[in-house]
Amino acid sequence: MKLICAPVIRKPLEVMGVAGMTDFVRIYIATELNKDEYRTTLRHEQGHVWSGHNRRAPKGADDETWRIACEMEIARTIYDQADIDNIKAPRSRLAGVYVPDSIPGMPGHITLAEDIYEWLMEHPDDVPKMAMCVICKAPPEGKAEEKTPEAIGSAQEARARLDEEEMKGKSQAAVESAYAALKSRTPSLSCAVDAALRVRIERERTHRRPSRRSADDSVILAGAVSKPRPPLVEIFIDRSGSFTPQKTAKAEIKLKEILQRYGSTIASDVWFFGNGKLSEVDYGGGGDTPYHLIPHHLERTKPKLAIIITDDDPVNKCVLPIDKTTSVLCIPIECAMTNLARALNGIDVKA
Ligand SMILES: [Zn+2]
Repeated sequence: MKLICAPVIRKPLEVMGVAGMTDFVRIYIATELNKDEYRTTLRHEQGHVWSGHNRRAPKGADDETWRIACEMEIARTIYDQADIDNIKAPRSRLAGVYVPDSIPGMPGHITLAEDIYEWLMEHPDDVPKMAMCVICKAPPEGKAEEKTPEAIGSAQEARARLDEEEMKGKSQAAVESAYAALKSRTPSLSCAVDAALRVRIERERTHRRPSRRSADDSVILAGAVSKPRPPLVEIFIDRSGSFTPQKTAKAEIKLKEILQRYGSTIASDVWFFGNGKLSEVDYGGGGDTPYHLIPHHLERTKPKLAIIITDDDPVNKCVLPIDKTTSVLCIPIECAMTNLARALNGIDVKA
């Protein structure tokens, strides 16, 4: 299964000016790239989107330094040897971008963009200026056209050029409705899961990070910072009477996809509910939809993420509020929305 968290648009290098760029809504990749360069660029841009680099910039951060920090975080946490080889290959179109050891003085254990940023600010003379992709903030709601040309940075200029190209082919109305659809679309399961787990992981890491003010560097234990516990995910599957065999079959496919994708990186438990019960064992279901047992259960287990595969059955019995540490994602089967997502302050996602 190929997972892409933002639509990929190919444009000539001449138009883009760089091999890859993203505005966190779409990913742009130059048409000229070969298969290897495309792979690394796609992983790189997805890294920006998945890591939420637009949201994480420290308050009042120096823009250029933050961008370098993001490039280095990707180089050190996303790239594998194949990516580094692709960048260093003779005549690579990615030549000269940041790789894990591009900043010789920076200790290898610094991998979080926030930490890299802090280090860069303390060592401004040690930072080589290298090639970077373009990351730009998504234009603020409807305000993009009002900006004076002077106020638009090079990134936005590039983005504006791309949009202009697009306008040539489509009418303005069509483009606007496409944007509106993008904004209001149901988030995909993979994006929602990544968002939920990503935030938790960062919080945990920040929380556990030893104080940087410590006078003695030797107290920082390698590994304690970079190895977060796998987050716990619980998956709930509807087995009530309203769940037809057809829905059950669809739910099973979704479940398989979830487990395949996340099986190796998260610890997960699967629960079945129906006929008044919530159980680890699938009894085959029937009867009522005991939604109220789910918040009851979550109160005890407090997972990072609860994924509930269900339909649009009404939520009859009152449900308890859910602890804020648990994110709830509902996967609607044969319906657009679930009543449960609203009752539990969760969101419906498209699997
Ligand atoms: Zn980048």
